[in-house]
Amino acid sequence: MAEETRSTCPYCGVGCGVLIQTEGARITGVRGDPAHPANFGRLCTKGSTLHLTAAPAIAGQARLLAPARRPARGAETQAIGWDEALDEAAERFARVIAEDGPDAVGFYLSGQLLTEDYYVFNKLAKGLVGTNNLDTNSRLCMSSAVAGYKKTLGADAPPACYDDVKDAGCLFIAGSNAAWAHPIFFRRIEDAKRANPAMKIVVADPRRTDTAEFADLHLPLQPGSDVMLFHAMLHVMLREGWADEAFIAAHTQGFEALRDTVRDCTPERAGEVCGLPVADIVQAARLFATGGSGDAARRAPTLSLYCMGLNQSSHGTDKNAALIGLHLATGQIGRPGAGPFSLTGQPNAMGGREVGGLSNLLPAHRDMANAAHRAEVAAFWGVPAIPATPGLSAIEMFRAAAEGRVRALWIACTNPAQSMPDQALVRRALERCEFVVLQEAYATTATAAFADLLLPATTWGEKDGTVTNSERRISRVRPAVPAPGEARHDWAIAADFGQRLQARLALRGVAPPRPELLLYHSPEQVWNEHRATTAGRDLDITGLSYALLDQLGPQQWPMPAGQPAGTPRLYQDGVFATPDGRARFSAEPWRPLAETRDADWPYALNTGRLRDQWHGMSRTGTLGRLFGHVAEPALQMAPHDMAREGLAAGDLVDVASRRGSAVLPVQPDATLAPAQTFVAMHWGEEFLGGRDARGQALAGVNALTTPAFCPTSKQPELKHAAVRIRRL
Ligand code: SF4
Repeated sequence: MAEETRSTCPYCGVGCGVLIQTEGARITGVRGDPAHPANFGRLCTKGSTLHLTAAPAIAGQARLLAPARRPARGAETQAIGWDEALDEAAERFARVIAEDGPDAVGFYLSGQLLTEDYYVFNKLAKGLVGTNNLDTNSRLCMSSAVAGYKKTLGADAPPACYDDVKDAGCLFIAGSNAAWAHPIFFRRIEDAKRANPAMKIVVADPRRTDTAEFADLHLPLQPGSDVMLFHAMLHVMLREGWADEAFIAAHTQGFEALRDTVRDCTPERAGEVCGLPVADIVQAARLFATGGSGDAARRAPTLSLYCMGLNQSSHGTDKNAALIGLHLATGQIGRPGAGPFSLTGQPNAMGGREVGGLSNLLPAHRDMANAAHRAEVAAFWGVPAIPATPGLSAIEMFRAAAEGRVRALWIACTNPAQSMPDQALVRRALERCEFVVLQEAYATTATAAFADLLLPATTWGEKDGTVTNSERRISRVRPAVPAPGEARHDWAIAADFGQRLQARLALRGVAPPRPELLLYHSPEQVWNEHRATTAGRDLDITGLSYALLDQLGPQQWPMPAGQPAGTPRLYQDGVFATPDGRARFSAEPWRPLAETRDADWPYALNTGRLRDQWHGMSRTGTLGRLFGHVAEPALQMAPHDMAREGLAAGDLVDVASRRGSAVLPVQPDATLAPAQTFVAMHWGEEFLGGRDARGQALAGVNALTTPAFCPTSKQPELKHAAVRIRRL
């Protein structure tokens, strides 16, 4: 008789509940959890095949099952015991810290980690080692959303919830192909449209994706022109009297500066910059401001949904802030069906931010740059101080490693040798770094080839802890089967390493002994400590516990002590998380892309997800049926461009950017505008060759992408690179 264990899908920020079916120590099936409020029993193709990717025959080939050391770069790994592995890691890190200080080491983590894993790593780096060099692949995913929320609303807190979709009169979807990237959430959009055919859907996206196909109005804007579009929409709203002047006066500040900024952002000018018909810009402004009703006197709610198209940009913060500004200017926030709502890419990018898992953050949404926040965390952890030196963000950390400033790197649950932009830089960094530790469930990732030490970690079906989805909902992740081989939980590996490191740092006289600092026996103990750090903060969860999550099911923060359930919607009282309670407008003007097209680099390269694959395919790539939707990599081009270049479907082309090149078959794609191309982000070196500018082999599409990043959020511009294309 199969048993069922209630847990959460590990793939995306929708955070669907799953029931894992097991027979003995074997996962035999999975079904959607009918009681989970994220999905009510539904699962997409990826979620519904989770058990197949966990099958012993598949997992046995791909899993890392024992610690291993590489005696020399390029040599085969040799299995070693956990004690030997962690002692060596502690010794190497202690030596580097003693010689060059704590900022000579770095930790690069993942939005796939559970909140408990993140918490322990954060305390290890910032509390024990004394470096803020801890960043994660969430930097590549959500950091512009974080910066946008903080700049305007005062806290990194998505104000809306999934249920708002059914109450919206207008959905404004920007830079998101939710139909593929968040499929179960998209089912809600389909349901809402079916229930209310009058609901208007506007999609701003350079490609005519499946999501855009579903829209009443598609705005195929030029890459990087989002801020101009949003400013022109505000220009129209002000001109037509569609703004909510009373809301602006009562609940915001800084509007006059933005009014000045948008004065010359006429729809005619935006039409040229964005490549859009003027009438469509005016119509988008009308639908947004009036909630689809067309009449500002009968304003219905507008909900905006946005994702990587806004975030992965060298002006990502400006894009987020400009869109949130539209909500503030029209009072479209803090009521059912209204508000800005960032869709989280990874399953636990939210949980990571909650515990301070970025180089500029501290636990419970505290800021590294804030001396009072640093003092609060230092007192909480019982350490003399949290370092004031800003930590290195993802790109900065790998750049520092490539330059020899970061000598030892600890990488957990992520694959930078495929997923980071500008692979030439990343691979130089991994080669130059003296000591690379990779803590991973899979032995097959591109990064594994660069690791000096490989530490086997548990994964879905084995892990125990919590995650937070896009709508601030905390769910339990529960183990259904024991860890395979010698794999250990991520938090336990970090804590064990920390114990050994503190002893060695004390021996060297670098720091006093701190045996209590990372002494944890269970994920619940870690979570309870995290919970205590949230008291009085915007994400206060002092009213929640593992037991209550079992009893009540997943809950949305905040849920302070005494509150019987979570909080679906924020800012309903019109008071924002700023010192004076007023939201801030951002008046930043539109700025062009970091890398514009020209005669030498005439095409724009966009990257993004496929429906049935996930990240670097370490899990989804093990299952043949997930290749049924898209079987192989391709450079997608507008048919008109292919004809002009004399290309036929399937021809091999060399795609080159200023940083490297890749060889791909070309395929026509009528969803693309002229001069725009697309390559899915998932394909790695086993599928897709590539070379850097020096002719060295590289992995995948990120041979081409740029490390240019937003100056505020430090999120790189993965959505645009200028390329040229040559038939082979
Ligand atoms: Fe998993 Fe996301 Fe699909 Fe839900 S929508 S089943 S969380 S991949």
